[in-house]
Parts: sequence; structure tokens; C-alpha cells
Amino acid sequence: MPRIDLHSHSTASDGTDSPEELIAVAAAAGVDVLAVTDHDTTSGWERAAAVLPAGMRLVRGAEFSCVSDDGRGGRVSVHLLGYLFDPAHPAIAAEQERLRGERVERLRGMTAKMADAGYPVDTDQVFALLPEGASAGRPHLARALVAAGVVESVDQAFAELLYTGSPYYVPKSDTPVRTAVEMIRDAGGVSVFAHPLARKRGRVVELSVVADLAAAGLTGVEVDHRDHAPDDRALLRGLAAETGLLTTGSSDYHGTNKTIPIGAETTDPDVFDALVARARGVEVLTG
Ligand code: AMP
Ligand code: FE
Ligand code: FE
Ligand code: ZN
Repeated sequence: MPRIDLHSHSTASDGTDSPEELIAVAAAAGVDVLAVTDHDTTSGWERAAAVLPAGMRLVRGAEFSCVSDDGRGGRVSVHLLGYLFDPAHPAIAAEQERLRGERVERLRGMTAKMADAGYPVDTDQVFALLPEGASAGRPHLARALVAAGVVESVDQAFAELLYTGSPYYVPKSDTPVRTAVEMIRDAGGVSVFAHPLARKRGRVVELSVVADLAAAGLTGVEVDHRDHAPDDRALLRGLAAETGLLTTGSSDYHGTNKTIPIGAETTDPDVFDALVARARGVEVLTG
């Protein structure tokens, strides 16, 4: 059975492996199908495609930073995986560019707040970790804090300093999730709600929100993800059975910024085929 991992990050966003390294790591781990899904950018696609080994398949995707109703009258930040969409679609290209700009300003703001509070970080150091055209994120600041000896790990940086709502947190203005679902569909892609019940990152949506999105064109929901407890996976499977959403599994690999190995969670081949059958933006590439 092919090993299918539909969510991974490179240095084009907050992963620590270059796109070339990401493909090599996936191949070495026996991954047959890998989706590259950097936050708010498609800038890693070409480099990953150029080194695809014979027989391995590459799903070109991205993880869209979104904001959603939480189903309780509030708002919450959520992630939406888009696959096989046309990257030149004007709405997507413009929105991703806007978001990358927001990310830079926001990370500057967070770094300045920490520097003002006496932490030994500065923007030059934080942004030195970022390749041209990459999406800046809190993990870049986390790594600067590790390098400065303030914390011992990226996880500790998030737990103590960078969590959503911390005194150093600065929000960014993300895309309404329904808009993102429509944009991805208009660009010929398919969308999957990423880790909807990742409770350790903060508040999560009610299941009714995911059900409403299914009616609005969402294709699938990520179920097998490290940040999902077993009972939450069961809840999501039940929801998918009721709404017709496809259920995926993936590592959300970030290199050494997270501890999960690539290919640690996988997607059923039949589900993958169903996902691909609904997309018409760009092809799955075969090495
Ligand atoms: P940002 O996109 O800048 O808001 O940062 C969010 C990113 O930080 C996510 O995509 C994860 O890769 C990472 N992240 C979120 N929470 C944690 C955590 N508790 N520990 C390590 N990394 C995290
Ligand atoms: Fe990330
Ligand atoms: Fe995510
Ligand atoms: Zn991710």
C-alpha cells in the first residue's frame, strides 16, 4: 500500500528542511506520495518538483491562514489545506502575497515587543533565518530565542512566550475561511480543513462550523494528526460520515521545529484517489 503524507513544510515557510531536503527525507522514510503545503506560499513547489525521485508523487499544495466563526459567537484562527489549485489564480496569488506581507510586519512587531521587554532578539537575526520569498512565522522567532539561549526548544518558546494571546503575541489579518474554500475551488483545487481539533494550540471550532463548510464546498477534513486525541479523531470521523467529507491523515512535518517524523500519519489510498479526482487545477507530479 502506498504511504501517503498530505501535509508538510519546508523552508519556504516554517519547516527547517529546504524543499530538496524535504523530498529526500520523505523518500528515505518510504513516503510514496507527499504533499508540500507551506503556509501561504507556493514558492517551494518548483524546487521540490525538480528533485522528485523516480516513482514518487508530489501533490502541490499550501496551508492557508484563515479566520473562522468558532460556532459559539467568537472568532478563531484556523488552517485550511488547499491542494492542486492553479497557483496563478489571481485571487489566490494576491491573497498569498498580502498574507506574506502581514506575516513580516507581524513578526517584526512580536520581535520588537520581546526586545523592548529585554529579550536578546532582534529582527535582523530573526529574518536572517528566512529564505527569499518565504513565509515568516512564529517558529522563526522561536528558533532565534533558542539560539539566544532564552529557551531550550521551539516547543518551550511557544508554551511560555509565543502562544496565541501571550503578551508578545501580535495577530495577523487572515482570510475568512469560507472565502478561502471558494478561492481554492475557483482555482481548480480541493480544500481540507487542517487539524480542526488541535486543542493544545488554543480554542478550536465547534463541529457545526466544519459541517457548514462542507455544505459550502469543503472537500475534506484532516483527522489523523498528532495534535488530535483519539476521541476527537472519532468525532471527526463521525462528522465526515454524516457530511460526506473525505478524511485525511498527515504528519504536518516541520523538520526540527517539531518532533514528528515525516510519514508518521498517512492517508488512505482510496481517499487520496477521491481527492485527486475532484481537482483540476494542476496535476499530481510523478518523478
Ligand atoms: P504563525 O503561522 O506565525 O501564527 O505560527 C504558527 C505555526 O507555529 C504553526 O504553523 C506551527 O508550525 C507552529 N506552532 C504552533 N503551535 C506550536 C507549538 N505549541 N509548538 C511548536 N510549534 C507550534
Ligand atoms: Fe507551521
Ligand atoms: Fe497548520
Ligand atoms: Zn501545517
